[in-house]
Amino acid sequence: MQQNLLQTPIEYLKGVGPHRGELLRKELGIHKYGDLVNFFPNRYIDRTRYYKINELQNTTSEVQIIGKIIHIKTVEFGKNKKRLVATFVDDTGQMELVWFQGHKWIRESLKLNEVIVIFGKCSSFNGTFNMAHPEMELLSEHQKSLRSAMQAIYPSTETLANRGVSNRVIIKMMQQLFLETQNLFSETLPDYLINELKLISKKAALFNIHFPKSSEALAKAQFRLKFEELFFIQLQLITKNLIQKHKIKGHPFTSVGQHFNDFYQNHLPFELTNAQKRVIKEIRTDMGSNAQMNRLLQGDVGSGKTIVAFMSMLLAIDNGFQACLMAPTEILANQHFLGLSELAKTANINIQLLTGSTKTADRKIIHEALEDGSLHILIGTHALLEDKVQFKNLGLAVIDEQHRFGVEQRSKLWKKNEIPPHVLVMTATPIPRTLAMSLYGDLDISVIDELPPGRKPIQTVHRFDSNRLKVWKFLKDEIALGRQIYIVYPLIQESEKMDFKDLMDGYESISRDFPLPQYSISILHGKMKPADKESEMKRFAEGKTNIMVATTVIEVGVNVPNASVMIIESAERFGLSQLHQLRGRVGRGAEQSYCILMTSHKLSSDSKIRMETMVSTNDGFEIAEVDLKLRGPGDLMGTQQSGVLNLQIADIVKDKDILLLARNYAIQLLREDASMHKPEHATLRAVFIEMTKKKNIWNYIS
Ligand code: ADP
Ligand code: MG
Repeated sequence: MQQNLLQTPIEYLKGVGPHRGELLRKELGIHKYGDLVNFFPNRYIDRTRYYKINELQNTTSEVQIIGKIIHIKTVEFGKNKKRLVATFVDDTGQMELVWFQGHKWIRESLKLNEVIVIFGKCSSFNGTFNMAHPEMELLSEHQKSLRSAMQAIYPSTETLANRGVSNRVIIKMMQQLFLETQNLFSETLPDYLINELKLISKKAALFNIHFPKSSEALAKAQFRLKFEELFFIQLQLITKNLIQKHKIKGHPFTSVGQHFNDFYQNHLPFELTNAQKRVIKEIRTDMGSNAQMNRLLQGDVGSGKTIVAFMSMLLAIDNGFQACLMAPTEILANQHFLGLSELAKTANINIQLLTGSTKTADRKIIHEALEDGSLHILIGTHALLEDKVQFKNLGLAVIDEQHRFGVEQRSKLWKKNEIPPHVLVMTATPIPRTLAMSLYGDLDISVIDELPPGRKPIQTVHRFDSNRLKVWKFLKDEIALGRQIYIVYPLIQESEKMDFKDLMDGYESISRDFPLPQYSISILHGKMKPADKESEMKRFAEGKTNIMVATTVIEVGVNVPNASVMIIESAERFGLSQLHQLRGRVGRGAEQSYCILMTSHKLSSDSKIRMETMVSTNDGFEIAEVDLKLRGPGDLMGTQQSGVLNLQIADIVKDKDILLLARNYAIQLLREDASMHKPEHATLRAVFIEMTKKKNIWNYIS
């Protein structure tokens, strides 16, 4: 159909008008005809079924009932508040209809003792069922209109409901729209795709999504529209990635030189896992090309990302460049500094640490060495982003634990040079594959999906607070074996004061149960001075204390191989990914490690699922998938800002298979016709250009 008809402002549709038009725009973002046709139902109900009052159950879905109103009254409640209550009966019982607004108008239009059909959601209160703001129709009118076993229910808002734009009104608008446009919606996908995938036409899909003829027709319509939505998103993401590769020049690290080879041949502290080898190769190839690398390195806690980062840095140095590593906390930066210095001890490499606590005199030395190029690797915190920090020639920037840094900060780092450095972002919070694909088009992700050999899987159990004595006994046994323990308390911003009190109370009672001189305890929390934090961490790392009581400060990266037990207090208050991160602090040595999730008896169903998931698996990707299901994509790290996930019909969790299919077809298409200039792609190209004009979904991806 002609584009311009779809561009018609919505108020021109018969039955809409300026007033409703304004409402549709504000409440649902529907501006034009084209927006309305793409406003999809979120479910369907059976309008051929009629309920009796004595069949009602306290469910949330809509029901329709035939009966009559026998009585109306106005009930006052609270100050100046009134509601209108009607008694509605059928031959099996009675119930109430309730209105909180529009009394006058409703009172005037209600007729007693006429047979009507009511429709809406029921709930029960004090044993009586009631329906608020029902849709009503005379039975005689009702019988004239078509009823379907699958009537669309559209998303709505309170304002819409209060202003009389009910589901029925939306359906009427939709019918009018199909009438005015004669359902002449044009095809957007190429013929060969439609044939190959046996898709129904765009026209048929749109009709059946709003007015399904049968459940089979509905399923076909949904498949077709979901596929189309995901397909276009994948086209955009992949194209964007290709363009970036063409546009942004990078330093080509062409040679594998002395530092890399010497380390690889003579000084590897252990044999690399196959996954590590594969990932290093991916990074090497990527940095060896003329384009800038922008790669996400995913690997579960303990999978050995550090050595991969280190060897990538050696490649930079071998090609005459500097490298840096930025970590989210001082503790972690410190640990990386120690770790990398250890790996580099046999090489002739200058490594320095720069954090907020670096003394001014040392800073000056570091700044100078950076500028004259004698400093090869700089490790630090946000301090690396300060203007004073200028590299002679930064070739590779490694960022640990990506979600702690905003996009802006990342680009700050890369503005430091004319040609941007290669960027390697390491994260132990696995992004589920489905989400990664919808966000990044999946092109530049490396995954370490294998743990170093010989690790004993951490045993995880869930214990209630009432079993604390047994847990403490277990801790004493472990300490007697020479092991160390973490006990972590939640610290969540909104209730920081309370949490802090919990932590301090916990610390006191633990000190009582594990008294000096037999036991010694460290404490670590965000309110401590950096120097104090560091010395406490150091005492624990050196084995001078048995127990570390801490907040989630220790969540990220801390490495004490002798620690074998992780106790998480109020575990129900943590999200899955955080629980998994915390658990990853143990299981780093040769000993069997344990994670104990302590909770109260009262658990929400989501909390139960979280505990069960933690107990049943150590696999970060599996955990991330459950997390995605529980929370939805919007909540996962960083995705809030992303317009990508404003999907109209598809669901990246439930429609994973369609996503994969769409992605494969998108890749294949772009491989054969990257610019979409072949005649069979003409329509596709037009739709694509229109889409990319509209929303800039690419801002998110740096
Ligand atoms: P993460 O991916 O969590 O950053 P690290 O790089 O800190 O993991 O590695 C965790 C531990 O595993 C370190 O003590 C490291 O020395 C060790 N490690 C890494 N790779 C291997 C390997 N291939 N074989 C044995 N141990 C390894
Ligand atoms: Mg790490």
